[in-house]
Amino acid sequence: MSDDPLSLPIFLRLSGHPVLVAGAGRIAARRLERLLGAGARVTVIAPEATAAIRALAEAQRLDWQAREARTDDVAGYRLLFATTDDPAVNAALADAARAAGVWVQRADAAGESDFLVPATVTRDTLQVAISSDGRAPTLTRILGARLESWLPRAYGDLAALAGEFREAVRTRLPRAHRGPFWTRVLDGPIAETVLAGRTDQARVELARAIDAAAAGEATPATGEVYLVGAGPGDPDLLTFRALRLMQRADVVLHDSLIQPALLDLVNREAERIHVGKRAARHTLAQERINELMVRLARDGHRVLRLKGGDPFVFGRGGEEIAELAAAGVPFQIVPGVTAANGCAAYAGIPLTHRDYAQSVVFVTGHLKAGALDLSWPELARAGQTVVFFMGLKSLPVICEALMTHGLAADWPAALVIDGTTAHQRLIAGTLDDLPARAAAETITGPTLLIVGEVVRLNATLGWFHPDGEPGA
Ligand code: SAH
Repeated sequence: MSDDPLSLPIFLRLSGHPVLVAGAGRIAARRLERLLGAGARVTVIAPEATAAIRALAEAQRLDWQAREARTDDVAGYRLLFATTDDPAVNAALADAARAAGVWVQRADAAGESDFLVPATVTRDTLQVAISSDGRAPTLTRILGARLESWLPRAYGDLAALAGEFREAVRTRLPRAHRGPFWTRVLDGPIAETVLAGRTDQARVELARAIDAAAAGEATPATGEVYLVGAGPGDPDLLTFRALRLMQRADVVLHDSLIQPALLDLVNREAERIHVGKRAARHTLAQERINELMVRLARDGHRVLRLKGGDPFVFGRGGEEIAELAAAGVPFQIVPGVTAANGCAAYAGIPLTHRDYAQSVVFVTGHLKAGALDLSWPELARAGQTVVFFMGLKSLPVICEALMTHGLAADWPAALVIDGTTAHQRLIAGTLDDLPARAAAETITGPTLLIVGEVVRLNATLGWFHPDGEPGA
């Protein structure tokens, strides 16, 4: 660690204050954007200016003087940004500015500057500023990009909503109650309502919560359900929203399909309920799952219903939500990467392709009473990819039916087992020989069947070869 004192992060209110920018190149243009955003009264002095700066001058958003900046220009400004491409000029301007009590930032020498301009991540009025005190600008940029993806877009709306009610809370709640009240609001269901895009509803709820708190009532805990698609296995395929809700939930209901690596990302304090579902061996009947979710939410819990892949693709998500909707339990639905997309991408098998497949069909290969009720003439078509979920058991039936309805015996087909995980395996063949190839192997993981000419592209486009893969 360095012994130099750290710089002091502050946010300057620059509105209406005079600021001088010497130089009018790319760096100046970047600074100008933010200075104008902050409402500063900006003068730019430079013989040449970028087109963007010229346009700002023409629109009278700033005053551009087309000449070299001189040391006697600096007096009277609050800040000086020395951005000329001549370090000697910047240094001379900086000295003059300091002598006149003007704070200086030198674009060419952060160490010689009175203040630094941090990297920022902005959501409306909410600003996160990041600095390494000039030591690692690239690191601050990388960190900024991380925050950018982590910080939900709607956080600005949340800040705005809090701003609207700040005065009401200040006048109606005793001082000691305000902090805990805001924590409950900004880290609770009302915030979640804003982040889900329902600011108007959140406004009503917040007004009600203030009334209740002012009347000294405990606000009844309102639970909700998050129906979240966790993707096919690789945790990197989660959406940001999925991850956020996984960390907010206090009860989790999950299937067998959910990989341990995904469960590791769920709030550690959350209660976990395994509700099963692996083919016929249902651990909890669907109706029981539905009832349980309604009950937990009514008890005030934030319930995460975590589903493999996408909840609305062969996931019975529709049925679960129907029950919640009927019971008046608030819920949100987060899409996930379905196994069809995940397996296709990780196996290098494009689901559509200009030359081989103009359409793609997702069907279930799940046997009902030992039979498959599918419209085979529509599935047994050239120019189309067919993806069968839950089709391993019925593989021989499927291949046979597709051939009976007109596809050639050498029509390509492949199984992707444990797709997108470190155990991914691919068994490629034809309608004729795939069932025998599959029978020769031990298959325990979830398995997707992809049928169509695109399967051949795996030979050239396959890229994901986890360590344990046979032949890798
Ligand atoms: N909602 C899920 C599908 C649930 S049905 C989704 O959108 O992906 C369960 C079937 O999905 C499994 O029988 C298998 O066919 C397929 N599946 C799910 N995850 C898989 C994976 N990682 N690899 C291969 N197939 C998978």
